[in-house]
Amino acid sequence: MGWPARLHTMLINARLTAVLAGFALLVGAACAAPVSPPTAPSTVILVGLDGWRWDYLDRADAPTLRALAARGVRSEGLVVTFPSKTFPSHYTIVTGLHPEDHGIISNSIEDPAIEGRFTLRGGAIRDDPRWWGGEPIWLTAERQGVKAGTVFWPGSDVEIDGGRPSYWLPYQDDLPNERRVDQVLEWLALPEADRPRFLTLYFSLVDSAGHTFGPDSGEVMAAAAEADRLLGLLIAGLEAAGRIDETHLVVVSDHGMAVVSPDRAIVLDDYLDVSTLDIIDLSPVLGVRPKDGDVERVYAALRDKHPALRIYRREEVPAEYHYRRSPRIPPIVGLADDGWTITTREGMARWTTSGSPRGNHGFDPRLRSMHGLFVAAGPQLLRGEVVPPVESLHLYELMCALLGITPAPNSGSLDAVQHVLRSQ
Ligand SMILES: [Zn+2]
Repeated sequence: MGWPARLHTMLINARLTAVLAGFALLVGAACAAPVSPPTAPSTVILVGLDGWRWDYLDRADAPTLRALAARGVRSEGLVVTFPSKTFPSHYTIVTGLHPEDHGIISNSIEDPAIEGRFTLRGGAIRDDPRWWGGEPIWLTAERQGVKAGTVFWPGSDVEIDGGRPSYWLPYQDDLPNERRVDQVLEWLALPEADRPRFLTLYFSLVDSAGHTFGPDSGEVMAAAAEADRLLGLLIAGLEAAGRIDETHLVVVSDHGMAVVSPDRAIVLDDYLDVSTLDIIDLSPVLGVRPKDGDVERVYAALRDKHPALRIYRREEVPAEYHYRRSPRIPPIVGLADDGWTITTREGMARWTTSGSPRGNHGFDPRLRSMHGLFVAAGPQLLRGEVVPPVESLHLYELMCALLGITPAPNSGSLDAVQHVLRSQ
């Protein structure tokens, strides 16, 4: 019920396409020689370094990532989808869909057809499969006989469309990072019939330091150095197991980080009575429903009132954001300029007292401050190349190609990332 009818159609089409593709393969095998020589099945490990802004790679003490880039491919940045927030962005990476299509339109969501509010805090509401649309790559893999193992990724601990990875863990923020690395290595040490070929590994430490101390802080550089050390443990483990040559390591982040400050605040109370609003999302993307249903009143009160705040009716959100189509997008959407914060008088008081956060994201993904990380290495990828910024929307197609599986219908394109692949 929670999903737009179009998405249901897409999912049905996905199954149909898979059936037809299987049929075509059978026919093709009978009457034509393979075009390219068969390659050994490769493993893909998708590593998510939450909040790693593109420039940390050169600013931080990150010898492992730089060595990985030197033997693989690095883009000048990763352009994520709108909004540049953790859950929407991570879930785009594994589905190839814009948030308006996969349904995770923000970190805080309401749906007229689902009771309760989706938040990052987890629990029964967040784990309701109706929020999670599209086909994440772990399901694409499992449905084609490729086992998947996930040490965290938004959605990986939810039963989506009746499926789960073969191996997964419920999200535990306090699971030690080294233990996460060990878990991936343990799954890779399973006998071949049980071993996953698609794995995820997720770390939040760089994002946390970025929010608390800001992207220019020493604390962020220390967190990035620690993330790099953890990646080093993974690579050392792969080398010790003799698996490094058959493994594609795809290291990404979900967004960058901008400096925020109480000097750059947009206080909603200056324009209207906030008690008349249901504030679903606040900053830097505002999402509100007027409690009395009077959208025009709220629109008139906020539109063109602050030079750093753009206000849209849902149907007017600029097309390039792909942020109109879902009924979960609130009727009034606002967006702050780079480094600005939308808040309330109450929130402002808390902020000036605590002095934190000093960093935030969610802004227009085209801003350089919002660009993330893309470094990847493996047998099918370029060696030692730096390429222009890559769009996260296409990574699902890329990873399906590396795994040798057929992607479900999605909005990405392998052509758009073909330039990171080694030519046959
Ligand atoms: Zn994030």
